[in-house]
Amino acid sequence: MKTSFFIGILLISLSISAQETHKRVLKLMGSRFEITVVAQDSLKAEADIDLAVAEITRIEKLISSWDPNSQTSAINRNAGIKPVPVAQELYDLIKRAKVISELTDGAFDISYASMDALWKFDGSMTKMPDSTSVKTSVKKVGYRNIILDPSDHSVFLKLPGMKIGFGAIGKGYAADKAKALLMENEVSAGIINASGDMSTWGKQPDGSTWKVAITNPMNKNNAFALLPIEEGAVVTSGNYEKFVTFNGTRYSHIIDPRTGYPSSGIISATVFAPKAELADALATSVFVMGKEAGLDRINQLPNIECILIDDQGNISTSKNIKIETK
Ligand code: ADP
Ligand code: MG
Repeated sequence: MKTSFFIGILLISLSISAQETHKRVLKLMGSRFEITVVAQDSLKAEADIDLAVAEITRIEKLISSWDPNSQTSAINRNAGIKPVPVAQELYDLIKRAKVISELTDGAFDISYASMDALWKFDGSMTKMPDSTSVKTSVKKVGYRNIILDPSDHSVFLKLPGMKIGFGAIGKGYAADKAKALLMENEVSAGIINASGDMSTWGKQPDGSTWKVAITNPMNKNNAFALLPIEEGAVVTSGNYEKFVTFNGTRYSHIIDPRTGYPSSGIISATVFAPKAELADALATSVFVMGKEAGLDRINQLPNIECILIDDQGNISTSKNIKIETK
């Protein structure tokens, strides 16, 4: 009797102490992903991470505008031609993207993508595109010309040459979906980090809150701040990775859908939100809206906060964030 009691206690303490974080770093959706889970053993952890990877890969196949076999590419190929019925999931994502466009006065717009032909941020651009080409291309940008039909969940891009792309929302969406799947599979805690788009749940094995590092836009190898994050998401958009410089101005890979020119002025935007999808889209939007309009809009939204850094190194925050400078 005494022995079995003793063994019982021993087993419980073993299983508690065995809760550990396991992390895998890999390339998905053309970006660096870090998947962290809390699990009792590495076998379980690896299986959990495999699940997340499969989910993210599935989403990439659906939403990639680079993959000619994706439903997104089918929508783009049929711009100005015909509506394309797509998976409910893709239809719903596009529908939510349009809502975010409304919310940001068009600063966020997945149809920015027809500008991809003019602005390239892979180092291949040697001069500014001429203003006539920008004017011609920007006419094809406009979320109101993305026509959704709920009866057959089809998507129609009204103008020939129109194109949609999920560069500013896809990684956030994938992070949310991977998190949801792992939670369903009873993974008690973890972080999905989709190259700076982070979705967290639960707590670290020692009971403390997850802490996420925000990249310093002036020096991307240094963290700018380490912030505790409860259940939720934090996303940083920065122009420290993808940008071009012409005549001393740094142009980010975020395009103002209203002008067709890349936005400048803000170099980093960090947004906190319950979901990574919304945080991702809003971080991009704030770049386009600029400091004043961007903060003003964020301050009107419940449960959303933001930290901005401009090209002079000034930091500004939404009203519920206080930064202590030492
Ligand atoms: P990152 O990919 O570095 O995390 P973002 O989440 O801010 O950065 O997304 C930027 C990407 O979003 C661009 O590379 C492009 O694919 C796309 N994009 C650019 N401008 C817009 C815009 N105004 N609205 C929606 N998507 C955009
Ligand atoms: Mg974004």
